[in-house]
Amino acid sequence: MPRSTTFVSASASALFLAAVVVVHGGRSTLVAQSRTTRAIALTFDDLPYVAIESGDYSRDAERVTTQILRVLRAHDAPAVAFVNEAKVRVQGEMDARVAILERWADSGVVLGNHTYSHADLNVLTIDQYEEEIIRGEVVTRRLMERQNKPYQLYFRHPFTHTGDTAEKKQAVEGFLAAHNYKVAPFTIENSVYIFNVPYATARRSGDDPLIRRLLQAYLDYTLAETAFEETIAQEIFGRDIPQILLIHSNDITADSLDKILMALEQRGYRFIALAEAMADDAYRTQDIVTKAGPTWLWRWMKNKGMNLNFRDEPDPPAWVSDLYSKR
Ligand SMILES: [Zn+2]
Repeated sequence: MPRSTTFVSASASALFLAAVVVVHGGRSTLVAQSRTTRAIALTFDDLPYVAIESGDYSRDAERVTTQILRVLRAHDAPAVAFVNEAKVRVQGEMDARVAILERWADSGVVLGNHTYSHADLNVLTIDQYEEEIIRGEVVTRRLMERQNKPYQLYFRHPFTHTGDTAEKKQAVEGFLAAHNYKVAPFTIENSVYIFNVPYATARRSGDDPLIRRLLQAYLDYTLAETAFEETIAQEIFGRDIPQILLIHSNDITADSLDKILMALEQRGYRFIALAEAMADDAYRTQDIVTKAGPTWLWRWMKNKGMNLNFRDEPDPPAWVSDLYSKR
């Protein structure tokens, strides 16, 4: 049985709250007290929209954007969202797609750079990657400047490939700093493509029972990952740290965001700006040189010479992975 099915039960949130009390021991015997102690920043990748099924891109992007922005407003949650401008610069579509990004910016979301075409630093030269950064900021920078308020430029590496050699890592870090970018880390992600690919298909064919099962599985998995990374953060830093969630501008995220944010609130989280999360000392820990793309918690653990057990990290349910690989 896949581990994450443990989290499907209706008593899941009660289990989590019980766990909070255990973690905090004598310092917090009341569940109500633990409810306000945690903080999380939300970040969205691959804007304007991750299309799976071939359809009307602008219409689908519009729908997902409307839903996400409505939920962020309802939960009073700030966010940073990372754009691939190659998906904006499409002949005949550019105005509509820029208008979608504009809606994010007008809602107070900070737009960041995710390279022009979702470039992979592991396979590009330093020069090619720097070119991707420069080409990836044209529209985004203009939209942020139009907001007429100071903003921080953020950059997020696609695939979380931050440099597979010391030379590439150093060069790109220097280039980003020289262009006033801060690299945006994350501590929690949820293998969303495995859920979103079958979800987009189920949505297209109107398979309501499958849609409901996938939404529930995605919510459960996101919470299971959150619980796991909380434990890892405790082991590395001996305390809760402000977490940073990486999610995407896609169908399954838009359709479940309200429930995800409600569940996080129930776990004691309040939503904070990325800058506030990154102001925590934990985020001063250095990244490492690696070909792989794990979360920052894994990178920090390695940097500190620790060897924590990641074998208990939850996997998406097997039936979801099967649907994904059979597509
Ligand atoms: Zn991405």
